Amino acid sequence: MGALIPVREDLGLFEGYHSPQVDVDVRLNTNESPYPPPAGWLDALHDAIAALPFHRYPDRRFTALRAGLAELEGVRPEQVFVANGSNEVLQTLLLAYGGPARTAAVFEPTYALHSHIATVTGTKVAVGERNHDFTLDMDDVARVMKDAEPAVTFLCSPNNPTGRIEPPEVVRAVLEQAPGLVVVDEAYGQFSRWSALELVDETTPLVVVRTFSKTWSMAAARLGYCVAPSSVVAALEQVVLPYHVDAMKQAAGTLALRFKSEMQARIAGINEERGRIAAAFADLPVDTWPSDANFVLFRPVHRDGNNVWQALLERSVLVRNCASWPRLSGCLRVTIGTPAENDRFLAALREVLQ
Ligand code: PMP
Repeated sequence: MGALIPVREDLGLFEGYHSPQVDVDVRLNTNESPYPPPAGWLDALHDAIAALPFHRYPDRRFTALRAGLAELEGVRPEQVFVANGSNEVLQTLLLAYGGPARTAAVFEPTYALHSHIATVTGTKVAVGERNHDFTLDMDDVARVMKDAEPAVTFLCSPNNPTGRIEPPEVVRAVLEQAPGLVVVDEAYGQFSRWSALELVDETTPLVVVRTFSKTWSMAAARLGYCVAPSSVVAALEQVVLPYHVDAMKQAAGTLALRFKSEMQARIAGINEERGRIAAAFADLPVDTWPSDANFVLFRPVHRDGNNVWQALLERSVLVRNCASWPRLSGCLRVTIGTPAENDRFLAALREVLQ
């Protein structure tokens, strides 16, 4: 009998990406929607599930969902790939275009899962640095492109956890310099002024990744997608497991698209609340950065970020503690909640910082 062998050496020192799931009154730490999906969606899903042929494998090509997403985004169905959350879309991209002997580029600070999934898929990671204001440093972009020749370059717009967007001229400049695929993670794209979706076509090596987890109030369903040249979508289908999108999820996603106007109204409400939080920050002793997402990064001035995080938790308000993350020393990130949740957060923060 073999022994319990150690895990792969390249994973040995590796920490997972977790946010504590604690029981609090106000949970503003994982950028979900504060609202459950519309009741009409749940009723329709109930009926759809009751009619599903559960003894059969699901539609492997998720035809209805794909057609709905193609219509939503104004592209052809062959340009849409769907998976279990946008994280699985990212993983499938790296399985197809990363792997041993290939490199993925990231510009820190950014979404930790980009380099995490790269490592898990055996892809080398080349790290570029952002400017102090978290905008992309184009000199460092040029350095990384030249030195590492990445097969995949990740951008994140709006960037998690900073909230900043990559403007069109920056995405275009990166596309010009990148020797491989450019992946723009737009998990928060619907909250933003601008989307790289308008740059996707059949010949540009650009993939835009989106999710149902935030705007669509469906984080529990684990559903994400990307829009890309059809040749890229074909490559993703080649490497992903067969029947990876289950029939319930296909129904859930397809039905959600009927509620586009409700979702747009929610986005408008959340963006308004984001403005209210940003305005409140202006009168508090915190540094903060402009956000195009459903969260805002801030750093208490003259106060230890960990202590502030703990003091908020003691008031039953949970935000994301980035205080000990590299390049984000002392920073916290708050998800925009309902107006009542945001009131609770602001009241607790005022009390803590006084
Ligand atoms: N990309 C970014 C930038 C994110 O912040 C998240 C969620 N934390 C994801 C992707 C993954 O989202 P999901 O897998 O739920 O679609």
